[in-house]
Amino acid sequence: GCLVKCSSFPCATPKNDSKDTSTTINLDHGDPTMYESYWRKMGNKCDITFNGDDSLSYFANGKSLCWFLESKLEKQIKRLHNVVGNAIVDDHYTIVGTGSSQLMQAALYALSPIDQLEPISVVSATPFYSEYPEMIDFVRSGLHKWAGDARTYEKNGVYIEFITSPNNPDGIIREPVVNGDQGKLIYDLAYYWPQYTAITSSANHDVMLFTISKCTGHAGSRIGWALVKDKEVARKMTKFMEISTIGVSKEAQLRAAKILELISDGCLDPNMENFFEYSQSLMTDRWKRLRQVVMANDLFVLQNYPLQYCLFTKDSFESHPAFAWLICKGGEEEDCEKLLKEHNIQTRCGRRFGSDSRSVRISMLSRDEDFNIFLQRLMAIQGPTNGN
Ligand code: PMP
Repeated sequence: GCLVKCSSFPCATPKNDSKDTSTTINLDHGDPTMYESYWRKMGNKCDITFNGDDSLSYFANGKSLCWFLESKLEKQIKRLHNVVGNAIVDDHYTIVGTGSSQLMQAALYALSPIDQLEPISVVSATPFYSEYPEMIDFVRSGLHKWAGDARTYEKNGVYIEFITSPNNPDGIIREPVVNGDQGKLIYDLAYYWPQYTAITSSANHDVMLFTISKCTGHAGSRIGWALVKDKEVARKMTKFMEISTIGVSKEAQLRAAKILELISDGCLDPNMENFFEYSQSLMTDRWKRLRQVVMANDLFVLQNYPLQYCLFTKDSFESHPAFAWLICKGGEEEDCEKLLKEHNIQTRCGRRFGSDSRSVRISMLSRDEDFNIFLQRLMAIQGPTNGN
């Protein structure tokens, strides 16, 4: 449509809107299909082939503590972090998982004390990633239990805190919140990539989680990785993976290695199209257009982000998060998810993130066509004062 490169309001009307007005646009999940356009342009550059006698063994040949980690993937993970400068890798063990979702569970297992009578409390500051409470209590483990908002947590003793930075749902850069000295911290850095936020320092924490899903968009490959300082924690996480799935698909790992390799190459070779520059300009454009629509209809408020200097792009910019955290200006009784649903926009209610129903989380990672229709529908919403 005309809107891909068009950034001036009010041209948010797609030319060839092929979806009819009754089709609901689903922006509930952070499904990163936006990146398809880049990968389509890369053509066959990421193709890999497997012969019938490849990948039969459970074991990878590397010397890694994580015995099922393909050494090609480990190499490309470390290379990419070094190229982007978003995390210190040299004094960390790398553990691969089926998405970072599986590694969250592995980390919870590894950090939960086994000699406690009570399950360890797990907290995260509101608004928190909505999967944490579900995942933590799903199998009613005796090891850990969800204990809610980190800001109101006051118990003594050991606890686990998830620090999501930039945060899902609101894109804010975060630090630990609980004021205890016995906290075990899990840094979920799924969105700490230059298309979303300025890289202000190389993260160097005990447990850091990353995922290819939000980095390159290959969520369907289900590849995530943990960078872990402590050998015993790394060992326990590997054990968790061994017991739950005896490792991670080698095909997925090798494909991920190829994709990460191409991205690093693109950052270093001026003759190639840099993935982060491409995705950053898409996100910048989407956020600009969203803010214009939100300002024009005056019914909602969006989070603002500070201007920060990015060590990777050597440029200052405001964050353009993977989700928009939209708040209805109306009173307490406002139900923003319901309002948007009436206009065929499916979002996720703020209550799911420990917040209230005045707010919603909206994915910014959809395909162009859906994003354009979303803006068009958002623009059509009229407040009671604007008349009907
Ligand atoms: N952490 C955060 C904060 C996320 O938003 C997501 C994806 N929605 C994940 C982890 C999990 O990603 P995956 O399992 O696809 O690696």
